[in-house]
Amino acid sequence: MDDIRRKTVKAVLSEGAALAGTKVDVKGWVRTRRGNKNVQFVALNDGSTINNLQIVFDLSKFSDSELKPITTGSSIHVQGELVASQGAGQSVEVQAEELEVYGTAPGDYPLQKKGHTLEFLREKAHLRPRTNTFGAILRIRHALAFAIHKFFNDKGFYYFHTPLITASDCEGAGAQFQVTTLPLADLPKDEEGRVDYSQDFFGKLASLTVSGQLEGELGATALGLIYTFGPTFRAENSNTPRHLSEFWMIEPEMAFYEIADNMDLAEEFIKYCISYALEHCADDIRFLNDHFDKELIDRLKFVIDNDFVRLPYTEGVKILEESGKKFEFPVYWGVDLASEHERFLVEEHFKKPVILTDYPKEIKAFYMKLNDDGKTVRAMDVLFPKIGEIIGGSQREENLEKLQKRVDELGLTGMDWYMDTRRYGTVPHSGFGLGFERLVLFVTGMQNIRDVIPFPRYPNNCEF
Ligand code: ATP
Ligand code: MN
Repeated sequence: MDDIRRKTVKAVLSEGAALAGTKVDVKGWVRTRRGNKNVQFVALNDGSTINNLQIVFDLSKFSDSELKPITTGSSIHVQGELVASQGAGQSVEVQAEELEVYGTAPGDYPLQKKGHTLEFLREKAHLRPRTNTFGAILRIRHALAFAIHKFFNDKGFYYFHTPLITASDCEGAGAQFQVTTLPLADLPKDEEGRVDYSQDFFGKLASLTVSGQLEGELGATALGLIYTFGPTFRAENSNTPRHLSEFWMIEPEMAFYEIADNMDLAEEFIKYCISYALEHCADDIRFLNDHFDKELIDRLKFVIDNDFVRLPYTEGVKILEESGKKFEFPVYWGVDLASEHERFLVEEHFKKPVILTDYPKEIKAFYMKLNDDGKTVRAMDVLFPKIGEIIGGSQREENLEKLQKRVDELGLTGMDWYMDTRRYGTVPHSGFGLGFERLVLFVTGMQNIRDVIPFPRYPNNCEF
């Protein structure tokens, strides 16, 4: 092989015309090989783009036995001249001059043909990143993560790292996984027969976090504007297409923001992320649009171009009650809305994303700011077509006495560190949590959240 610098498939295709006539060096995995006894065409992909680079092997230069190992899934290194392509579907192709096979992929390679079902690919989750579909999803996922950091950084927010292992059991957002080094078959017990956590690794009961918010508030009341972006764990047995046991959450928290500022930020943020993906992942989104969801691009543009509806919970419940629609779960003031209710408001009634506000205090977390009516709190959930809840947030109760009252009513303990934010220099503040995979689900148009994270964790599934 000549000493030429390797280029990615993406670089070769985008530089295209400028490189024509020069010798290029490319490496990747073979997607397909076809042809006749004079010429063989290989579609090469290296993960840099959804598009393949066509490599042409002239059988007067390469023998059958040299080409034999080049089957779907094998990995190769090729040098050759980049030329304008005569065939349809690509503007340039490589006329192979030299070939090195890194690794063969025998006939039992599971991803032989195109068009495997998503269910089949979920069984082969360790290999599915090599498919067009998962390549596209994972590149979009990356772009969205990058956009999130860019959005907040450009606005002067600080990335604040909250702990994954927590001793606070008051996060209240969901059932927790316990973290322990105690011998489970022989647990140390105290006099009352309860597990003696003083002998555990941290000297007390510890769990994986269900939300970084409470610690995030410590950051916001010091740095002003912060966001978290990290793994989150929930042990609910929710076998739905929208829940994972391990997912990533983005939680901005802003000092001096009231609920309207919070809603403005959430709407701007989510529109920014979608625009970023449309601009930077055009090929991947087009692929998903064409293969899975013909309305995807229209739906993404629609969300960017339209104001979200802002509606108090009480009015939302009224609309649901008056809709005459038969819901599986009953609707009445005070009920925690189910996904079918949220989706009715978004998909059938308003046909737009909806930010629902001012929920009954009983169905929301203790830290949300109580309204003057004494019954509702300044919560805001952003509800999206196809997804339901994508963001949950609120203005926080900054008044020490009111917050203490809620803490006492609910019998929460061990909150002293949190109450110090209200005890010393308390300020109005707000924040929200965006489930990263719900955003990726929306932007990719996929139906199941297990298909938008490389290694999904859900009840009875913890592979790799
Ligand atoms: P849901 O009602 O949909 O179960 P939640 O109200 O329990 O969600 P929050 O505690 O408000 O969720 O969490 C903030 C955001 O995190 C949600 O709006 C959602 O986008 C995301 N989220 C929550 N639970 C999960 C989960 N199990 N898997 C993936 N994302 C989740
Ligand atoms: Mn919520």
